[in-house]
Amino acid sequence: MNTFSQPLLIYNARLFTPNPAGLMGWLLVENGLIHALGFGNTPDFSHKTSLQSIDAQGENLLPGFIDLHVHGAMGHEVMDASVPGLEELARFYASHGVTAFLPTTWTASRASILKALQLVEEMQDHIQGGATLLGVHLEGPYLNPARCGAQDVNFIRRADKDEALEFLETGVIRLLALAPEYDENLWLIEECVRRGVTVSAAHTAANYEQLQRAVEHGVTQLTHSYNAMQGLGHRELGTIGAAMALPQIQCELIADNIHVHPAAQKILVDVKGPSGVILITDAVRAAGLPEGDYVLDNRSVQVQHGAVRLQDGTLAGSVLTMERALQNICAATGRSLEEMWVTSSLNAARAIGISSQKGSLEVGKDADLVLLDKSFNVRLTVVKGAIVFSKL
Ligand SMILES: [Zn+2]
Repeated sequence: MNTFSQPLLIYNARLFTPNPAGLMGWLLVENGLIHALGFGNTPDFSHKTSLQSIDAQGENLLPGFIDLHVHGAMGHEVMDASVPGLEELARFYASHGVTAFLPTTWTASRASILKALQLVEEMQDHIQGGATLLGVHLEGPYLNPARCGAQDVNFIRRADKDEALEFLETGVIRLLALAPEYDENLWLIEECVRRGVTVSAAHTAANYEQLQRAVEHGVTQLTHSYNAMQGLGHRELGTIGAAMALPQIQCELIADNIHVHPAAQKILVDVKGPSGVILITDAVRAAGLPEGDYVLDNRSVQVQHGAVRLQDGTLAGSVLTMERALQNICAATGRSLEEMWVTSSLNAARAIGISSQKGSLEVGKDADLVLLDKSFNVRLTVVKGAIVFSKL
């Protein structure tokens, strides 16, 4: 295993830098950062002591995936608020190329949400051998019950000041998803903006005018686009149509081909451009495990043919992993990895304001890397310069 102090050279790789993307080159990691990179022949680094060299065999080296919306995997969920659970999530995601993520809460009681927030607060700098915890994505509870999806409708409520401020005061929330059509929720958008927390419109029936108003208050993102929102109409644009029309909005997308038809994925990318779409998994407890029956809060879900559903058929998150999401979006859009790599890393980093440290292969940024073979299988994951997963 590589350590922070040991320099790491990856050569003979197709490098996906912001410009150019996809050229053969090399990348040198030192002290957890990208120290140098270049295209063409690898310079002679034999003078460097204890240098670990990896021949990438012409495969694709991308910035590590950043998953902003993920609830669980391997039998664990963020809402379990368990230390070993969070550690296992971080390791499982890393084995799928994720180098940083936002553990995502869902609609629940004040006490349950607070417990999950406090655990992430304690764990943030203590995850070993896995993806970095970036903070928390608070999904709900301030949603629209008519668009609850699998969120527990009994706990959906409007943004209460005392409660929401207690959540924010933990200091770990980086992204907050709410239904912006309610006047009672607008203050929270502004409070989040004031604190540097990104706000996403979620589980919402907001129409064009309401989403436009939300943008004026500071909403910049749309949660799992197309899912749990008002659909597109030509007179009544619905939430998705409004998000397509408003350039300020970045669109999360679950590209598992179950939540959204591949052709609808293509439309979204064609409209928003590759820089306007953020791939997420929305993965839940069953991710990484065999199909069958699992629990979601106090309800049961069934995983069959890659879909996670409540008893009534409602989709309840996914078992998607990020490398498959990237493969699917490339296939759905017919666009190349040179164009689409931003959807699994840089766009997410920009969305939560961390793109000066993460999200692209550039000198001085964190050495968060994923090596993908031609079939999008993860061969190597590097988090802050340390190899956390290898199948070389
Ligand atoms: Zn959701």
